[in-house]
Amino acid sequence: AGNSAWRLRAVDAGQGRVLVVFDDITQTRLTERMRVDFVANASHELRTPLATLSGFIETLAGPAAEDEPARRRFLAIMANEASRMSRLIDDLLSLSRIELDKHVRPSMSLDMGSVFADVGKTLAMRLEQDQRQLLLQVPPALPPVIGDRDQILQVLHNLVSNALKYGQSGTPVTVGVTVEEAGPASPAQLRVLVSDIGEGIAPEHLPRLTERFYRVDSQRSRKMGGTGLGLAIVKHIVERHRGRLEIESQLGEGSRVSFTLPLAQPPRPAPVPVEAAG
Ligand code: ADP
Repeated sequence: AGNSAWRLRAVDAGQGRVLVVFDDITQTRLTERMRVDFVANASHELRTPLATLSGFIETLAGPAAEDEPARRRFLAIMANEASRMSRLIDDLLSLSRIELDKHVRPSMSLDMGSVFADVGKTLAMRLEQDQRQLLLQVPPALPPVIGDRDQILQVLHNLVSNALKYGQSGTPVTVGVTVEEAGPASPAQLRVLVSDIGEGIAPEHLPRLTERFYRVDSQRSRKMGGTGLGLAIVKHIVERHRGRLEIESQLGEGSRVSFTLPLAQPPRPAPVPVEAAG
């Protein structure tokens, strides 16, 4: 079952006896390893735009100093790289903030209707620029869910952004909502489904998409302004809410990403007759 790692420790057991304890540190090792990988990846991701910036600063200070059209072009690229760095830092901060209070379950009652409206507003400019449509299929009178507003907003924003990034230009992105009754293993919940028509994802990538910095095509993700952290953030937030994230995709057709959130007031079970006392 993989490599195990053990740490030996001597413990004073009293009355002159010493106990030798073997601690299983396999998990600790793994976590450490992940942390080291993460720092290495994050540094690499930050260094790439920084290298571009440094290169252009040098060119602007030297050969391109007098060339006005070149200057403008380079400044536009530099602004782009700077905003990539800032997006990356924002995402890194979100991730660490969510991880910090991973064990605190959100308890606020949240009206998803207002969340959908907000996402629509935030993305309105981009939708218009790209001539894309965001179709909302939401039943009237949605029951409130339990959730942290800012975090759920971020989940929806990341999923719709991905659908826009990887969906085919000109096609709409659909956000559908269904209310699901409680089942034997699940509470009554709301399911939000974001679907796109586009390149889709090959099945072998599906299990790894929520890993930090995992991308199917790094070049393409960077070009579209991606950080590789969007789905990692989504997964963390959804799990903190006791929800589930599901990703389905058909290569060349499109993707369907859904998440669930528990309802704030699950429908009450039918009353059980109370036996009269005495
Ligand atoms: P990124 O910033 O690269 O978009 P994400 O964590 O949001 O990072 O997504 C990870 C990868 O999953 C993306 O790089 C892309 O390859 C793939 N992906 C995510 N959403 C979709 C989608 N709707 N359609 C196709 N591929 C997607």
